[in-house]
Amino acid sequence: MPRQKLHLLEDICGVITGSRDPRKTLDTIVELVAERFSIDVCSVYIFDAEQKYLVLTATVGLNRAAIGSVGMHISEGLSGLVLETMAPVFVRNPSTHPRYKYFKESGEEIYRTFLGLPLIYHQRNLGVLVVQTAEESAISEADIPVFSAITSQVAATVAYSGLLADLDKDRSNRSAQKPSVAGENAPRLIEKKPVLRGIAVSSGFAQGRAHYLAESIGFDQVKMEAAENHREQRIFLEKAFEAARHDIRQLHRAANDLTSQDASIIEANLMILEDAAFRRKICNRIDAGYTAAAALKQVVLQYLGHFNRMADPYLRQRGADIVDAGKQVLANLLAIGKTQQNAFSGDTIVIAADISAAELIRVRQPHLKGIILAKGGKTSHAVILAKSFEIPMIIGVKDVLDSIRENDRLIVDGTSGLIFRDPPPEICGEYDRLRVEKENSFRDLDRLRDVPALTRDGRFCRLGANVSLLSDLELVHKYGADHIGLYRTEFPFLVRGDFPTEEEQFDLYCKVIAAAAGKTVTIRTLDVGGDKFFSHLDYPKETNPYLGWRAVRVSLEREDIFRTQIRAVLRASACGPASLMFPMISTVEEVSTIKRIVKDEKSKLAEAGRPFDANIALGIMVEVPAAVRILHHLLTHVDFASIGTNDLTQYILAVDRNNEKVSALYNPLHPAVIATIREAATVCRRMGMPLSICGESASNPYCVVLYVAMGITRLSMNPASIPLIKHLMATLSMAEAQSALMAVADMEDAARISDHLKQVCSEKIGAYLR
Ligand code: PEP
Ligand code: MG
Repeated sequence: MPRQKLHLLEDICGVITGSRDPRKTLDTIVELVAERFSIDVCSVYIFDAEQKYLVLTATVGLNRAAIGSVGMHISEGLSGLVLETMAPVFVRNPSTHPRYKYFKESGEEIYRTFLGLPLIYHQRNLGVLVVQTAEESAISEADIPVFSAITSQVAATVAYSGLLADLDKDRSNRSAQKPSVAGENAPRLIEKKPVLRGIAVSSGFAQGRAHYLAESIGFDQVKMEAAENHREQRIFLEKAFEAARHDIRQLHRAANDLTSQDASIIEANLMILEDAAFRRKICNRIDAGYTAAAALKQVVLQYLGHFNRMADPYLRQRGADIVDAGKQVLANLLAIGKTQQNAFSGDTIVIAADISAAELIRVRQPHLKGIILAKGGKTSHAVILAKSFEIPMIIGVKDVLDSIRENDRLIVDGTSGLIFRDPPPEICGEYDRLRVEKENSFRDLDRLRDVPALTRDGRFCRLGANVSLLSDLELVHKYGADHIGLYRTEFPFLVRGDFPTEEEQFDLYCKVIAAAAGKTVTIRTLDVGGDKFFSHLDYPKETNPYLGWRAVRVSLEREDIFRTQIRAVLRASACGPASLMFPMISTVEEVSTIKRIVKDEKSKLAEAGRPFDANIALGIMVEVPAAVRILHHLLTHVDFASIGTNDLTQYILAVDRNNEKVSALYNPLHPAVIATIREAATVCRRMGMPLSICGESASNPYCVVLYVAMGITRLSMNPASIPLIKHLMATLSMAEAQSALMAVADMEDAARISDHLKQVCSEKIGAYLR
């Protein structure tokens, strides 16, 4: 069976997101499975736990009239056997099996194979997925793993589709009259279902009210949708204009202390909103059949185009005013929160097109429970922060504007990527149960907090924490990190309007080192640029900021800023164990210059009689492919190296880590990424140099199996992931890790590699991987 058919899983996700009817969802899934695998029959039987009864709920291949009418007690039939044993059952010539049960309504007598798999979700039996073929050799036992992967997806659908609650309602009917006549007791399906799906990037469950960060919503999120009722759309538009004018006037009145420049921007916006010709053009587009939002978008973009073509820079700038004014109307049209509230009054799920790390720090508060982004990258710095704040986050939810309104009640499942709008009580109840279950199972890992991370055959690995803010230090101890492998120094300063002085930095680094309580802190110098900008540093407008003026390149050009930071870190190194690390190194020259500067600053401090650790270790981040290729040269100049897989992955694969359009291509399990890390590990081993990994992949169990096999003995990650990784190591021997590495080394794509590692990890820590 071709393995690429596993892409079916993505289609299934699409079906779940796209359909609002659970029955149709299941119908489409069985159709997809049957079609993709050229299977004659694919059926789903849902389990009524109270009655111990299985009911045929969806099928391709069997008589569809049997849906809802064919059913069996779990002590009957081969499907019953699957449920009883909670294991796959594969049988050739099923009619000869002692457990075979014949239903004349189904028409299944002609099939020569039977493969049944249990639908298990969170240790709960939900039903059985059955595939059958007329040709005896069409499927075999070897296909069980492929179908098992699909089954877990179907199980999640069943769990959240409302089918189970519906069965409860139908139970009384069915017990009065056992199914026998086609159609009579077909499960009635309730409408509520997961409305949206995105990419889960920060795990956990959250409930709260939707709140849009309006500033981040732009016209690129507005679709060119049609509307039939023009009159209604014109009324929406009129109201939105009126509301936008009201907001602006209020702002004008409230802001007595505006500079004349700010005041003129407000006046310009007001003039645009009062311009009858502007509104008339939008109404024309509505009359042409568009929604008010789509009509507004077209006219704003048309104006913008005109202004952009003007030679006069002042007039060109007016295009920005049009977009500004248009966004005010758009916010009202979409009924989204217009201004950033200082404090949320209740549990809140923030929704934005995208969010920067600085915005996230600004908006963070106890009532911020979850984050949904229309765009976003899997390892953006906002995602990294959300993980360290332990806030569930889902990105790449393209249809968020269409489906969620300000103040909607939401459940965000940051583990599966599902978002429920106004969920029914049974789904809320299910999530409460899941949350408690998850807390309990992870509490179980607390026992590992103070034990060292050892593989099953006793190899020691150091598990460190990545931290960004002083408050993260609490998590370091809570989750039992034995060092801080990466302290990102730029985060505390991202929201400031000026640059911190040496004393301010010294004070902060001392606090971090003190809070680490003897655990070594690897302090990384500023990594700005890319997706992190200091408002007061004059950044050039770059087409490719990740390939531009970033990290050490900024530091070496702004030597004043760099030297200030080096001095502050050196002085703080007198407070406790610390090391210094430099980001985005790509040449030996950079390292030589850095070392000269550090030496210089050490001499100055020594002359001034200031204490510092004269032997502070200096290390580099290996996150540019060039650094891997010249690693043997670089290592002769430094004391340690740490691979930043977030950037290394984006640079090897040419995939912007923040661009959701290409996020499916971003994968640390890509064979090229694995081979590159392996190459770096080999060089380090040969040169007797410690190598650590501090990118997000250090907390990915699949990757960790490979890193252990490569002999990498230091992993630094978001602190909450440490217990699970420690647990994985304790179940894994070096021989197992190496055989996994051998097995994947020649595989040609990430999907196969991921499949293989999934199998390895499922055996070890399956209960914790959902
Ligand atoms: C990395 O690139 O893997 C890394 C740890 O650095 P950052 O995520 O801050 O770019
Ligand atoms: Mg990096």
